[in-house]
Amino acid sequence: MKLDANVPSGPLEQKWDKHRFELKLVNPANKRKFDIIVVGTGLAGGSASATLAELGYNVKTFCIQDSPRRAHSIAAQGGINAAKTYPNDGDSIWRLFYDTIKGGDFRAREANVYRLAQVSNNIIDQGVAQGIPFARDYGGLLANRSFGGAQVSRTFYARGQTGQQLLLGAYSALSRQIGLGKIKMFPRREMLDVVVVGGKARGIVVRNLVTGKLESHSADAVVLCTGGYGNVFFLSTNAMASNVTAAFRAYKRGACFANPCFTQIHPTCIPVHGTYQSKLTLMSESLRNDGRVWVPKHPGDARSPHQIPDSERDYYLENKYPSFGNLVPRDVASRNAKEKCDAGKGVGETGLAVYLDFTDAIARDGKDVIEKKYGNLFQMYAKITADDPYQTPMMIYPAVHYTMGGLWVDYNLMSTLPGLFVLGEANFSDHGANRLGASALMQGLADGYFVLPYTIGGYLAGTVLEAVASSNQAFVQQERQITERIEKLLAISGKRTVDEIHRQLGMIMWDFCGMARNNAGLEKARGMIQELRTEFWKNVKVPGSKAQFNQSLERAGRVADFLEFAELMIIDALARQESCGGHFNEDFQTGENEALRDDENFCHVAAWEFQGDETDPAFHKEPLEFENVKLTQRSYK
Ligand SMILES: Cc1cc2nc3c(=O)[nH]c(=O)nc-3n(C[C@H](O)[C@H](O)[C@H](O)COP(=O)(O)OP(=O)(O)OC[C@H]3O[C@@H](n4cnc5c(N)ncnc54)[C@H](O)[C@@H]3O)c2cc1C
Repeated sequence: MKLDANVPSGPLEQKWDKHRFELKLVNPANKRKFDIIVVGTGLAGGSASATLAELGYNVKTFCIQDSPRRAHSIAAQGGINAAKTYPNDGDSIWRLFYDTIKGGDFRAREANVYRLAQVSNNIIDQGVAQGIPFARDYGGLLANRSFGGAQVSRTFYARGQTGQQLLLGAYSALSRQIGLGKIKMFPRREMLDVVVVGGKARGIVVRNLVTGKLESHSADAVVLCTGGYGNVFFLSTNAMASNVTAAFRAYKRGACFANPCFTQIHPTCIPVHGTYQSKLTLMSESLRNDGRVWVPKHPGDARSPHQIPDSERDYYLENKYPSFGNLVPRDVASRNAKEKCDAGKGVGETGLAVYLDFTDAIARDGKDVIEKKYGNLFQMYAKITADDPYQTPMMIYPAVHYTMGGLWVDYNLMSTLPGLFVLGEANFSDHGANRLGASALMQGLADGYFVLPYTIGGYLAGTVLEAVASSNQAFVQQERQITERIEKLLAISGKRTVDEIHRQLGMIMWDFCGMARNNAGLEKARGMIQELRTEFWKNVKVPGSKAQFNQSLERAGRVADFLEFAELMIIDALARQESCGGHFNEDFQTGENEALRDDENFCHVAAWEFQGDETDPAFHKEPLEFENVKLTQRSYK
């Protein structure tokens, strides 16, 4: 297979305009002849469904939750980037593009990232038109704050609930189209396979999670917006239902998986506090605008934070990175926190935490100002920890948060399986080896509102699509395979719960493929995952039946996929013999413990093609050509 990214020729700034002009169009009257399936109703899926329906296509939209507006995107807190340059602080489309490429440690495709920066401004206009209550400054203009990896303020926000407000906007647009009959909404459905007919994606098979019945749906194209796979680590900040199943099953049907080992560990989360925990809570990156990160200078210092004088505190990010200070990108902040804790300077009962301190900000700006900016986040922290962050510094530690890897897509957001498009966190496209804060919402909405609606038209207008009904043999056969798998899971009737095995998998991944990896550990983890997978299929206990609402069965299917997918992550991590962004292989680091890239041998996207359950996947390389930025050692000093 040869990966063709289909990047248009010409100057970077003109590629998207030129491409939009060159793409074939479907005329308005013909749009109603096409059926499109959209799986997922987060920001990517919600915006894509609404826009496609508004254009006139017939859309069928699916999600796991009982309502589209409960998608994981609703949890997003801190904000969304755009190059509006309202604060007049030197920002530009070019700077947003450059910061994103550099933030991703030069492992993203230039043309996609530039387009993202270009359309970022449209998203804000769209949001304002929908009535998103973005924060405003004293004069009534939209306010901005800063996020990591940037020296300008370009993040638009709605307190600590930006994802919720943006999702409500997309949901309103989606609901309007449901009302108009252009979108048929299927909640409580889990997609369990993509159906390929004549070499093209022509539908999906879903399980109705309430009745347990399998349903087949055909279409002219399928759009996956199914989010990220951070829950492979069991503990993460992701919603409990986030999973890899849709993307992984598509991979098994011919869509290549790109850079699966690129995981983002977010530096500011509430530390793990017990073995019965199933979820970690994010404290938004926006807090690093005003909070100061520190640890005691002396290892083992058990005094309370108030008893430690300033001279005995190590504000390590401010000291080591004076230019960016507490707002270094997430990978850098996370690694430094780990380094301090490994050196015995961690705080709290476990020693696996650092302080995020607002004392100076409160003294400078007043409690009411801080409360206005971060009130709901402080409240959430106080509720979970029973500590008052206005009085005592927060304790934070890095946790799994986002996945930069995903299904490989070309410039049109189409995967290597023709007719299968992938949007939002489910694709690999724009963030390289490390995503900058507030850029995921931007990407999901850019994909859904402004990119796919053009590119899918080019595919539909330029492709011969014979009629395919859901009674086609391919659907019947895939329903049969899914039924067999479900029955196999239920028949094991072993001794261990799905969650127990998932937790064990998560610990393997965290220990050996988490914030830091090394070759020996990765090899070891691969064996451990294989053993655990064997154990799962012999000894898992899935109670209940298939013909009912059965969450153990749902989870078992997802964990079975995680157990296979985890090995793909390890294979990818082992193949990338360098460090870059979130992929920090301890065998490759600079004298100052920063990621040491190898641009000569690894300046590429690694895309993996499924070859069968018992065979290693085939490796394909998309070389990354940087014509507009110079590759440099990332420095935030
Ligand atoms: C706590 C938290 C805070 C965050 N804050 C920010 C922030 O401030 N700014 C920022 O830019 N980013 C933030 N992010 C990241 C951002 O929220 C996500 O990357 C983004 O919302 C993903 O959107 P999505 O549309 O791609 O997927 P999701 O919102 O994850 O939606 C996935 C959809 O797919 C559906 N689905 C999944 N699998 C299946 C299946 N098999 N069958 C049917 N349906 C399926 C789900 O039901 C859901 O509707 C945050 C993330 C977290 C965890």
